[in-house]
Amino acid sequence: MPLNAMKTLALCTAASLTVAGCMAPFDPENPRAVSASDRQSGAQAHPQILAEFGGSYDGPGTDMVRRVGRQVAIESGLSTDGSNCTVTLLNSSVVNAFAIPGCYTYVTRGLLALMDNEAQLASVLGHEVGHVAASHSQRRQNAALGSGLLGVLAGVLTGSGQIAQLAGQIGQVWTLSYSRDQEYQADDLGIRYMTSAGYNPYESADVLDALGQQAALEARIRGQDEASQIPAWARTHPLSADRVARATAKAKETGMQPGQGREEAAAFLSAIDGIIYGDAPEQGYVDGHRFAHPTLRLAFTVPDGFYLNNGAAAVTATNGDTPVQIQFSGGSAGSPSALAQQALSGILGQAAQNAQVTQVETGSVNGMATATQQARVATQSGQTDVTVVAIQYDSSKSYYFAFVSPANVDDSRIIQSTVGSFEKLSSAEAAALNPRVIDVVTVTSGDTVSSLARRMAFDDYREERFRVLNGLSANDGLQAGEQVKIVVEQ
Ligand SMILES: [Zn+2]
Repeated sequence: MPLNAMKTLALCTAASLTVAGCMAPFDPENPRAVSASDRQSGAQAHPQILAEFGGSYDGPGTDMVRRVGRQVAIESGLSTDGSNCTVTLLNSSVVNAFAIPGCYTYVTRGLLALMDNEAQLASVLGHEVGHVAASHSQRRQNAALGSGLLGVLAGVLTGSGQIAQLAGQIGQVWTLSYSRDQEYQADDLGIRYMTSAGYNPYESADVLDALGQQAALEARIRGQDEASQIPAWARTHPLSADRVARATAKAKETGMQPGQGREEAAAFLSAIDGIIYGDAPEQGYVDGHRFAHPTLRLAFTVPDGFYLNNGAAAVTATNGDTPVQIQFSGGSAGSPSALAQQALSGILGQAAQNAQVTQVETGSVNGMATATQQARVATQSGQTDVTVVAIQYDSSKSYYFAFVSPANVDDSRIIQSTVGSFEKLSSAEAAALNPRVIDVVTVTSGDTVSSLARRMAFDDYREERFRVLNGLSANDGLQAGEQVKIVVEQ
């Protein structure tokens, strides 16, 4: 028995206890055809994923993503002409890519912006198609289907901050079960598919390296403890240190030399020129501790130490030091009292039966009526307090904040300061909020890394961000005539 077959067998035995069942070894020459039931579950999940990830992004990059995705799907043998694989560019700033059964593959514009050429895109999409071809997560995904937001809120009450931070990102929950060996196999398959599509296989290591650099920079900017800020792709497809080196070795095994094969950098950069970077106006902007939504015309600020995460279902904020979690959502009709009660019972779920719930208290903030209701409930991590404050924005809309904290932590100041910061934006204030976009520029003879980095629309880490965005290491310089990406305000 060859060594890797033994390894597969051992893994199967251990895994069969936790993951439902054990799969036969995968032969890349003969991938299992996409079954009718997979196609059906994929078709059911697809609209949910679109809703959770900001919908599909329409722009020049959309056609490129579809074309390259279909190409690798054909190389995988899952599809004869690419038509039965659905490839979507998602309108999300989260750095992520994933696939679900039925051959539905996704990449976010956040991840696309980090890439430098089509070969890197083919590598990432090939990796995801590889997970599908090798049936890596099929059973786990079926089990998680439909858990949606309830699962997220249950996570709040069971004390699983990780799950709570995934609000609006259910796709991630589905892909959390990949093992290191599955990642290696998907990397290998991605390299195999991109090479047979004619791309330079060495770009696979480069995009993995770019993701690693991005994860390291995010950790530096936001603080090491803030796991929610590490690119989702790096969390769900763990970037072990040897993965980049391994990808380079696999590229060598193809027999191609570095520089051989298509990269299509110019076509790629022209397709992503002008693409939104970070939050889109209809999603609202996170800027440090402040969240501002130009379309809904509202803003609020969370206290120092909290990190905002702009999910599709809710804006959430977590704090590394004290385990207090904040959620902001709503926009529904009705009185703030009704909304506060509805939101609280939604968060408590079944735990409501055993919760001590206070009466609704009314008040006001910045001229808007409020309603506050609190509950104390026993959870896996001890006595937990949930406070909901609903605010009547105008005659047709109310929003709410929910605060979850251990009962022995006094979060009254956090509540007071967050709720007190909630404000309406004037039309002028809303109009001044512009999205950031990727601008592709050609380096001229006078340009340097620091001169171009100064044009980046950020207050801090401009040069570091510029280097990571363009795959430049600390000592790399620029050459006149080459194209680079900068992030500018639109
Ligand atoms: Zn993966």
